Amino acid sequence: MKSTSLKSEAMDKLNTISFLFSMATKNFPNIKSVRALCQQGSRSDQGADCHDVDDDHWLNCGIAPIATPMSSHPQYCRTRKSWGINALGTLVVEVEADDGTVGVGVTIGGEPGCYIVEKHLSKFVEGQDPRNVELMWDQMFKGTINYGRKGLPIQAISAVDLALWDLLGKLRNEPVYSLLGGKTKERLPVYSTTARPDIAQKLGFVGAKIPCCYGPSAGDDGLQKNVEYFKSWREKVGPDFPLSLDCYMALTVPYATKLARCLEPYGIKWIEEYLMPDCYDGYCQVRENLRASSILLATGEHEYTRYGFQKLLESRCVDIIQPDITWLGGMTEARRVVAMASATDTLVIPHGSSVFSYHLQYAFNNCPLAEYINLSHKADQIVPYFGGLFPDEPLPKDGFIDLPDRPGFGVTLKKDNLTRPYARAIEDSRKNALANLQKLNPVKATFPF
Ligand SMILES: [Mg+2]
Repeated sequence: MKSTSLKSEAMDKLNTISFLFSMATKNFPNIKSVRALCQQGSRSDQGADCHDVDDDHWLNCGIAPIATPMSSHPQYCRTRKSWGINALGTLVVEVEADDGTVGVGVTIGGEPGCYIVEKHLSKFVEGQDPRNVELMWDQMFKGTINYGRKGLPIQAISAVDLALWDLLGKLRNEPVYSLLGGKTKERLPVYSTTARPDIAQKLGFVGAKIPCCYGPSAGDDGLQKNVEYFKSWREKVGPDFPLSLDCYMALTVPYATKLARCLEPYGIKWIEEYLMPDCYDGYCQVRENLRASSILLATGEHEYTRYGFQKLLESRCVDIIQPDITWLGGMTEARRVVAMASATDTLVIPHGSSVFSYHLQYAFNNCPLAEYINLSHKADQIVPYFGGLFPDEPLPKDGFIDLPDRPGFGVTLKKDNLTRPYARAIEDSRKNALANLQKLNPVKATFPF
């Protein structure tokens, strides 16, 4: 009798232990190392810098002129590469966990970006639990504040953050959109930024966007040519194909207002980034000037973090914001911006950035349309946005982007032609890891603000 009771007690204990074990969460490895890579020697393709194209490429004015903020300087008005739009090039970040799983993120930034990632940002990442994306983002942002806030430091943070999300997806064996809350749509429609809207239409894209050819320094003659250019494409694609205009920060308030009014009869869907990104008052003024117009207003490709987008959203100066996920602060910051935009019913149509944008767009309802920048030389064929960096990058087909059911961002990095200019010793990564593993838990509770 006694032996039966002991046996049953032991069984109960065993069941309790196995129940508790089954209730325990999965073990996650910590982050072992952060590596920053850029393209070496002559760049074979644009990689993650969509402007780093050949001299005769349409994006470098190989088919038609493209206005930029530098168009008013005669020595820099003929091509975009003449003033160094591609000065930095690709930055690739790898984040490796203790179990050997590697996450990959990209941005522009080249060798200076590699320096920031290896010499500074790695401090906040190595040794961390990869699930703590908010903690790492906060430390990277605040840790770079004396030289950061916008531009290169935030682009470098973006690449690290995207690598963390890719790593998390691989460790959890789920796509990133799933980590963000799952799919809000089964298929994602896509439009094309291109010099050949007629070809984009034939390829099945749901709309197209062409560059604005001339800025204010080209005078009334340039304005007339801009109108003729848009009109000629409207005639080629017919009245029902959505057609927009990208002004790449090249215009002024009166010029943007006048150009928009001239183009309205030709069915322009939206006019994009007509002013410099910090000209918030100017964007408000154009909104006011075009209050009666049906043209949608768009900007944000060169805006950074929630602080920058708050300025655009609270003033209601545009209908569409266009964050670049590989520039504005990565996925951790992008999801905040998307949430802020939903509160003002502002559409989010991200700039380029391929899979890194697509996963965000699948996960949030106010991101209804993807951009595909056609990076083939003559804008006449569908090629990967990131050149040869990710051979399995999903491509648009019949007007949709369909994402394969793969973990992380679902793409494989091809490391040919990549180099690590500021490679650190394993010991350096271990020192960072040890510092982060020594958790300084508070022992006395205090009111935290
Ligand atoms: Mg643009």
